[in-house]
Amino acid sequence: GHLPDHIRSKVQDHPCYSEEAHHYFARMHVAVAPACNIQCNYCNRKYDCSNESRPGVVSEVMSPEQAVKKTLAVAAAIPQMTVLGIAGPGDPLANPERTFETFRRLSEEAPDIKLCVSTNGLSLPQSVDELAKHNIDHVTITINTVDPEIGAKIYPWIFWENKRIFGVEGAKILIEQQQKGLEMLTSRGILVKVNSVMIPGVNDEHLKEVSKIVKAKGAFLHNVMPLIAEAEHGTYYGIMGQREPTPLELEALQDSCSGDMSMMRHCRQCRADAVGLLGEDRGEEFTLDKIDEME
Ligand code: SF4
Ligand code: SF4
Repeated sequence: GHLPDHIRSKVQDHPCYSEEAHHYFARMHVAVAPACNIQCNYCNRKYDCSNESRPGVVSEVMSPEQAVKKTLAVAAAIPQMTVLGIAGPGDPLANPERTFETFRRLSEEAPDIKLCVSTNGLSLPQSVDELAKHNIDHVTITINTVDPEIGAKIYPWIFWENKRIFGVEGAKILIEQQQKGLEMLTSRGILVKVNSVMIPGVNDEHLKEVSKIVKAKGAFLHNVMPLIAEAEHGTYYGIMGQREPTPLELEALQDSCSGDMSMMRHCRQCRADAVGLLGEDRGEEFTLDKIDEME
């Protein structure tokens, strides 16, 4: 593969990156982050953040204390549990107290578990110092564009310095923060994966350029996911009748964006409270009620 050795050694036993490892190692997400600081046109706030989660499902939002308790219970029950991620249901870095309290406690109480976090990137530059302290295994940034004009079609507004900023102006700030955050993380040796949502007619052709830019800045993986525009998810409200990509369109774009094809094609866009081996979700076995009963 094209990956440098120091990165390969970090990802080879990671269930989300290694085709091999995902059969043997388990991951879980905890949903400790309810708030978000931007609006994506493909988001329906009733459900999990589409940054990294299959839309249309609602995760159980929990306190940092409950998240730690759940993680320890799952780690005791599933010995292959190696990775804990915070992915929503909002943006983890828009909920810094809750997210970092969870990481702080887990690095003390379960130092062997790898930690990861996904974000839209708006608050990333100011979070890098804190992330570096917690020995975060990797960060996922959802980057859908590097062009503010395209950004305005994806993000109607952002919440920035205590006010709402709309359209091209808001998208420009978001893009700058994402790119700056990406550079800061990779220059400190923190692994960065970039996710993009493919939106036909909006950013599909443009994502090839995004892919070149983020890889040049050191992202080790670029993962293209399809827009999911199902009625029950809430329609894509920026454009009436916005369609999803076809499987062929998605595959063609993924072929031109993903350098190492054996990795990440199996990303399942897991829900924010997923538990277990990839492709299985044992979340129902580990709801807070059931963890209370285990004690
Ligand atoms: Fe929704 Fe996630 Fe976008 Fe926030 S970043 S608006 S939670 S999809
Ligand atoms: Fe891994 Fe993708 Fe699931 Fe996250 S959403 S745990 S990266 S497979």
